[in-house]
Amino acid sequence: MIPAVFNYHRPKSVQEAVALLAELGDNGRALAGGHSLIPMMKLRLAAPGNLVDLAGIGELKGVRADGNDIVIGAMTTQHELIESNLLADKIPLLRETSLQIADPQVRYLGTLGGNVANGDPGNDMPALMMVLGASYRLEGAGGAREIAASDFYQGAYFTALEPGEILTSITIPVPAAGHGYAYEKLKRKVGDYATAAAAVVLTMAGGKVTTCAIGLTNLHETPLLATDAAKAVIGTSLDAAALKQAAAAAQAIMSPAADARGPVEYRKHVGGIMVARALQRAASRAK
Ligand SMILES: Cc1cc2nc3c(=O)[nH]c(=O)nc-3n(C[C@H](O)[C@H](O)[C@H](O)COP(=O)(O)OP(=O)(O)OC[C@H]3O[C@@H](n4cnc5c(N)ncnc54)[C@H](O)[C@@H]3O)c2cc1C
Repeated sequence: MIPAVFNYHRPKSVQEAVALLAELGDNGRALAGGHSLIPMMKLRLAAPGNLVDLAGIGELKGVRADGNDIVIGAMTTQHELIESNLLADKIPLLRETSLQIADPQVRYLGTLGGNVANGDPGNDMPALMMVLGASYRLEGAGGAREIAASDFYQGAYFTALEPGEILTSITIPVPAAGHGYAYEKLKRKVGDYATAAAAVVLTMAGGKVTTCAIGLTNLHETPLLATDAAKAVIGTSLDAAALKQAAAAAQAIMSPAADARGPVEYRKHVGGIMVARALQRAASRAK
């Protein structure tokens, strides 16, 4: 399919981009890597009259340390996340998850900002951002604000982004040294979105879990933080009973859509398995 007619804009600064978006109103849309938006436009599920391409804005690129945080520019590609030595050292979960997104062609252009701003429940990064305690910097013509990833997602394709605002960067507190991490994703084939996926970040001491966060992908209309499931494993050695309890607590908040990836009961069932596997693998990596 061929998209509807649109005008193309390529601002050189955030200031220019937000001024343009404010002027264009409902008729303008930010364009990042285009690997979610362009397919939607080709299917005529989206038909913005104007695309404001963020690719020419250098300040939206890059991964840097800022005290005990890592700050990632919204236009940093998934490929660049995989290549970053800083991330491999400090937040290896990001690399592990990026490698499970689509295929190299998509990852060369698809950006972290586009992945988290899109609001598609099938995107892998949002649940990760929630378990890592990330926050998003949103900038509009009226100024800038920070919002926690856990407060950003309101429904499928509905987020806290106000018209005219763009996401400029993502800030992630560096997880504790020696933390365990895992992203377990069940997909029908290489390059597919998750049938069900779970992200885990935890710490352990003396063989027992001391802190834990669990996130769920594509098991609800928004990414979820499975807080009761995480509580169920704290203080345990992740024995079979604790894993079973955590999987059941996570399943209790899942409400996936029945679609080509399977009926609701199947997706909840495999969702529980992803939670248990992610917990076990994270624990095996904790030091
Ligand atoms: C074949 C294929 C398989 C895929 N498989 C997966 C997968 O397994 N897992 C996964 O997570 N993703 C998958 N994707 C999606 C891919 O990761 C996209 O690149 C990503 O979802 C969107 O990033 P983008 O940079 O391409 O954004 P775009 O497509 O350019 O934009 C997506 C949406 O976000 C908005 N947006 C983008 N950047 C900003 C910003 N900085 N501020 C405000 N709004 C913004 C746009 O206006 C648009 O509404 C797949 C894509 C394809 C084509």
